[in-house]
Amino acid sequence: MELYNPSVIHGIKNKYGFKFSKSLGQNFLTDRSVLEGIVQGADISREDLVLEIGPGIGTLTMEAAKKAGKVVAVEIDGNLIEILSETLAGFDNVKVVAGNILKTDVQKLIAEEGGATLQEGDGRKQRRYENVKIIGNLPYYITTGIIMKLLEERLPVKSITIMMQKEVADRIKSGPGSRTYGAISVAVQYYCHICTVEEVPKECFMPMPKVDSTVLRLDIRETPPVDLIDEKMFFRCIKAGFGQRRKTLLNSLKGLQFRKEVIEECLKAAEIDPMRRAETLSLQDFATLANEFSQKRGNQLPDRKSVV
Ligand code: SAM
Repeated sequence: MELYNPSVIHGIKNKYGFKFSKSLGQNFLTDRSVLEGIVQGADISREDLVLEIGPGIGTLTMEAAKKAGKVVAVEIDGNLIEILSETLAGFDNVKVVAGNILKTDVQKLIAEEGGATLQEGDGRKQRRYENVKIIGNLPYYITTGIIMKLLEERLPVKSITIMMQKEVADRIKSGPGSRTYGAISVAVQYYCHICTVEEVPKECFMPMPKVDSTVLRLDIRETPPVDLIDEKMFFRCIKAGFGQRRKTLLNSLKGLQFRKEVIEECLKAAEIDPMRRAETLSLQDFATLANEFSQKRGNQLPDRKSVV
């Protein structure tokens, strides 16, 4: 079944009385070459367990299932579950899970499906698949929330190949000095190598969204790109700096709740001009600065308001 074909989508809508939900970000793919591009970009093979976020009517799921060992697809919309059981009936290597990806215990799901070794006492012990790869044409309304959840949970995953709004992809790829550089850029670049798979015009979806899309592959780094004394401090610096991005670092870092003199000392030790703004700092600059704060925390009592 050519699920990307608009007349097939209309047929399914009519048969099941299905209506697109704008609030769930339902823009279904209608372009075969884009689908093939995602599957090729994700480099899916029989050794892979694929986790798909938001299968819709199963368009991308079906293409992935042709190449993967197994596809597990998590879909929030209960109205689509029945449709998926029909459209994917021919594939015995697909499992559809009804649920919200933001509330799903992905770690557990991966282990249960054979993508990671389970501890003794959990039933199975050995993993069945070489790699776990995540794919999805993400609902725009929660793209960054999904990405950060997947990265922060440090899942046993090789890559995440996902379609997102072009503006979000541009932000993720941005470097220091760019207007679009922000906390999400530093965070994703800390966890992953980023590769652009394809640019996708809005005409490739039904219904047509207002914006174009980009498919990125995030290859999870095996070792972090910078040495950190305390990862939490690194992320606190990023949050404080970009939380007030128009302010100088001397002011925005007050959000860390160290005394002003301490902030000045740390910036000086990191050789960062206190008049600079967060958007000019590289990943390495943030790491050096965070390490200075981590060292200070060891030998200085914070003031009354401090959360350190
Ligand atoms: N994969 C299909 C395609 O490419 O045609 C559909 C993509 S559509 C942009 C996003 C899909 O994600 C929809 O099916 C929507 O119902 C689902 N979705 C939205 N929020 C979700 C969530 N929190 N957890 C799981 N699925 C979600």
